[in-house]
Amino acid sequence: MDNCIFCKIVAKQIPAAVVYEDDDLLAFKDINPAAPVHLLVIPKQHVSTLSDVSDEHTAVLGKMLALAPKLAAEHGVAVTTDAQGKRSGGFKTLINTGPNGGQEVYHLHLHMYGGPRPWRGLG
Ligand code: 5GP
Ligand code: ZN
Repeated sequence: MDNCIFCKIVAKQIPAAVVYEDDDLLAFKDINPAAPVHLLVIPKQHVSTLSDVSDEHTAVLGKMLALAPKLAAEHGVAVTTDAQGKRSGGFKTLINTGPNGGQEVYHLHLHMYGGPRPWRGLG
């Protein structure tokens, strides 16, 4: 897609701190992180918003979500459970959709936030 910043990152026309890549997905560090770990997971194929997905995208959406806990483990923010069963760590996943959803970049992306709180502007 012309003039799509994330398509340009996929095409390596502009740089990004890539943390994962396969045939369908790219994951990279957010340029303006709102948490100690803030990654973006995108489909390589351009889809503007979650409202634009159709049945053909179901598999890639599943892959995006399934990648998040793997990235969390690699970046030290997975959920861990101690001997008493108390959980710590963990992360947040988020897809902003459209203007009222707070979407600024119109190439579908899954945010993955983690690390010690507080996180800027996030519940
Ligand atoms: P949205 O509000 O659309 O859900 O989030 C877009 C995110 O993309 C923001 O968190 C913003 O910091 C990030 N972002 C915007 N432009 C770039 C860029 O050129 N490179 C990277 N790595 N992140 C970007
Ligand atoms: Zn795009």
